[in-house]
Parts: sequence; structure tokens; C-alpha cells
Amino acid sequence: MFKVQSLLTAYRSPHTAHRLPLFAFCLLPFFLFAQSSPIVILHTNDTHSRLESYIEPNLGDVGGIARRSVFIQETRKEYPNTIVVDAGDFSQGTPYFNLFKGVPEIELMNMVGYDVVALGNHEFDNGSNALSKRLKSADFKIVCANYQFKNKKLSKIVKPYTIIYSGGKKIGFFGLLCNLEKVTMPKYSKETTFLDPVTTAQKMMDILQNKEQCDLIICLSHLGFEAEFAGEITDKDIAEKVAGIDFIIGGHTHTLLEEPVIVNHTKIVQVKRNGIYVGKIVISENP
Ligand SMILES: [Zn+2]
Repeated sequence: MFKVQSLLTAYRSPHTAHRLPLFAFCLLPFFLFAQSSPIVILHTNDTHSRLESYIEPNLGDVGGIARRSVFIQETRKEYPNTIVVDAGDFSQGTPYFNLFKGVPEIELMNMVGYDVVALGNHEFDNGSNALSKRLKSADFKIVCANYQFKNKKLSKIVKPYTIIYSGGKKIGFFGLLCNLEKVTMPKYSKETTFLDPVTTAQKMMDILQNKEQCDLIICLSHLGFEAEFAGEITDKDIAEKVAGIDFIIGGHTHTLLEEPVIVNHTKIVQVKRNGIYVGKIVISENP
């Protein structure tokens, strides 16, 4: 049994990373936090090629990969068992993407030290072949379980799930992605085959829970917190229909969840967009 604390952190200045202003703070009431060496999962989603900081209305100067990097380094110093993940759509949104076709995003995510990353729909904006070329230089694991890729290089790079060992625990991560047909140019969505997210998630649980016997199972989801189209499967649907997922770290709908939403014992988190926030999940074992 684990105790979990989840925080939402806005890292606003590299010089004050050790005393970060917290935009929101959540301590789940049924868990107490006390452990010398917990496992920490830092999560982002929909960073959308925001490599530099920018002015966000009502929030001021936010984001930027340099600040994120400092925050991650500081967290790793404090918590050696830190895992850094992203729930997709790290591509598209600034001229960096238009000019350099998503290459700097990957290089900087390597430098920051991402461990596991899910694919978002905007990763496919220049097609599967371009995506496979730039993902070749990724130092992190890339997960997406509910797609078959016609591009052979891409299907070799992207795995349905990955396992990370941290703090003596076995942690399984699998990825889910929304239906590209609705949000990507047809010529690019045709390069893929969409598989039902619920059936796929159940299949992943059979592997990670029963076969691999993971201590913790995390879904990196780019399905979205709420449906944007009728009949769309969301993070809430996955949590309702597939038992045993510890966390769904979500993206796509740019939802700011100031505290985890618990559905059927699964905690769903998502931290808006553009790298304004980094989510921080602190996991420690019951004494
Ligand atoms: Zn998206």
C-alpha cells in the first residue's frame, strides 16, 4: 500500500526553485506523508513547443524549458528517485516547431532528462516518417499502446509500455492516444490504425499487473479529461472501466486539475498546457 501526495507546482523563476510559489497544493486526506526516500513523479503535458518563457494572461512570466530544467534538477537533488514524464503534445504551437520541425523539442527534453513520454496528436503534424526521424534521437522511452503504425521505423521506436525500476519498486507505464482521425490531417492519420483505448488499457493491465507484477501502474494518456467529440473515450472512462490503474497522467484537453480527481480508485491528474506547471506526485510506502 502506498501513500500519495500530489502537488501542482508553478516554477516561475530559476533562482527561487528551492522556494517555489505553489499555485495549488493538495494533500489527499486519507494518505499521510512521511518517508525518507519516496518516489517522485514529475509530469507535464501539452508543452506545445514552448521552449522559452512567455507572458500568460493573469499569471505573468511563466514556463520555459530552462526553468523546468532547474526545477527538475532541484527535485532530483532532494529526491533521487525522481521520474520525469510527459503526456504528449510536446510538438506544435510556436515558430520553433514550424522552423525546426520538432527537433529542438526532443534535444531539450533529452537535456532536461525526461524518462517516459507519451505521444500526442500534434506529434503527427508532419506525418509518421518525420516523427520517426526526430524520435530516433530521443533518450527517453516513448509509449503508445492503442495504435498500430504503418511506418516500420516508428513502430520500432514506440512501445506499448515500459517498466522503470526506482526506489526498489517496479513501475509500469503505458500510453494511450486519442483518435487521430478527428484531429489530424487525413493523409497522416491514415498512416496509423486506432485501437479501442478501453480494450487496450485492459490488455496493458493484464500484462503489467498479472504478468509483470508491477508495484505501481501509470497510464500516460493523451485521450483528454473530458470528451471534445461525442462518443470520445476520456481518462474518466478509462478509470471507470479498467480497474487497478494507480494514476492516469493526462493531457490533450489542457485541463488544470488542482488536485487529483479520483475515479474508481484511480487518481487522474493533468496540468494545463505550455509548461506553465509541473505536476509532482510523491509516493511513499506505509510504515
Ligand atoms: Zn492533443
